[in-house]
Amino acid sequence: MTTAVVAGVEVDTRHWIGGQRVESATTFETVSPLDGTVIAHLSRGGQAEVDAAVAAAKAAFVGWSQTSPADRAAILHQVADGVEARIEELSQVETLDNGSLLRSHRRGVMPRVAMNFRFFADHLLELSHPDFETRGHRNHVSWDPAGVTAIVTPWNAPLMLATWRIGPALAAGNTVVAKPPEWAPLTASLLADIAHDAGLPDGVLNVVQGLGTEAGAPLVAHPDVRRICFTGSVPTSQRIGASAAANVTPVSFELGGKSPLLVFDDANLDLAVELAVEQFDNSGQVCLAAVRMLVQEGVYDEFRAKFLAKAATITQGDSRDEATDIGPLVSRTHFDRVDGFVNRAIADGAQVILGGEPNHELNAATGGFYYRPTVFEGFDTGAEIVCHEVFGPVLTLQSFATEEDGVAMANDTDYGLAATLVTGDRDRAERVSARLRAGTVWINCFFVRDLSAPFGGSGRSGIGREGGTWSFDFYCDVKNSVFAPKGWN
Ligand code: NAD
Repeated sequence: MTTAVVAGVEVDTRHWIGGQRVESATTFETVSPLDGTVIAHLSRGGQAEVDAAVAAAKAAFVGWSQTSPADRAAILHQVADGVEARIEELSQVETLDNGSLLRSHRRGVMPRVAMNFRFFADHLLELSHPDFETRGHRNHVSWDPAGVTAIVTPWNAPLMLATWRIGPALAAGNTVVAKPPEWAPLTASLLADIAHDAGLPDGVLNVVQGLGTEAGAPLVAHPDVRRICFTGSVPTSQRIGASAAANVTPVSFELGGKSPLLVFDDANLDLAVELAVEQFDNSGQVCLAAVRMLVQEGVYDEFRAKFLAKAATITQGDSRDEATDIGPLVSRTHFDRVDGFVNRAIADGAQVILGGEPNHELNAATGGFYYRPTVFEGFDTGAEIVCHEVFGPVLTLQSFATEEDGVAMANDTDYGLAATLVTGDRDRAERVSARLRAGTVWINCFFVRDLSAPFGGSGRSGIGREGGTWSFDFYCDVKNSVFAPKGWN
């Protein structure tokens, strides 16, 4: 079988290498978290498929890197058109594959996938740095394509996270070998079709399906790979970093988080509650989620009561239903991992003030992997539940006394991806945001993302920044050419 029909959409289950579909001798399966059924068997790539894909990307780099920026941009806009034309199919397939909400895919995620190509196509045409002079010499800065780029991504927003790297890499003139997540690999295959139909030359984008250890590991270790983009967990980044070090390959790492939501006693509490409940979106499988709620003592009780009342209204169910607020966790393995965190926290004496268990009824009725929105209170500083990334619908609630204490608690983490603060005092907002260690700070808002803004994590949340020109700085070899004064030639 070389195709699967998923949500009525035919998806090729083979790799996409050098403009050809390539089949492996063995397969792996992807399971829908909505009901636990196997929805496709995909080619299971390894060293041989990776070697072929990197060779194809290397060969295609010669032509693509020399294609004019205007022509590259035009093709990327056509890719974006192709994505927009297939938003419904992409949304349906992604929802069955990773369990995220269909309405979010339709209205937010897939339009953003198209934007990932459009924005960087346009930005490429605006890239410039003014020439400057040194003792009569002219310095000229250029962004030269770097070469084959390996892109390894996770399952929580598979196509959005992959294209947020693929878009700028291709715009920069690089060629790409993408390794999609094994728990949600299907939309990457549809993207290969879309890119091909849009006129992207063969070998410029390659997709190798497979497991991290079998397909991801040889890809990031390949000596012909000139950039590695990884989005995923800290332990995997450590393995990839070791491979990258062996070849001195530059990396861009977007990793986990344990971000704080700071609520000060001058905050608009309705807004604070709204932002807090939002952290359950995608069943908490969001790297940026502000899962540590830190609330100033004066408003703690009122916030707690309002938050619990609002959280109790969250509707959990089939992700294709418009009325559903949150769906399942992505896989049985991840479900067990989240359940393990919850059970250990309970055993350690933390108090459950919401949820604290799987959604047994829904799981029995559907066969899916649903976990109830869960909140803990009354645990020790340093407890696993408040230090480690759970990546599920699990929040913690703590109080703090002074602004100083709040900042200290917010920064008391190995991570530094994002922070959200809610306050009615602009001066406090400036003061506190300046002191938070995070790649992004949101003040009285959450998840407002602009593709021209720098994005990335501090601490163990990552290495590097992407977005706008920062992306091109990473994907390119930035070069300075110094021209002698006229009359020297
Ligand atoms: P993961 O690290 O297990 O896997 C991510 C990808 O790496 C998958 O495609 C996997 O196949 C691949 N992989 C695994 N082992 C590999 C190896 N040895 N060599 C090469 N590739 C390998 O992470 P996950 O569980 O899929 O994703 C969840 C994590 O991703 C969370 O920590 C989350 O916070 C993080 N994340 C971060 C961002 C961000 O922008 N900072 C965004 C989304 C998710």
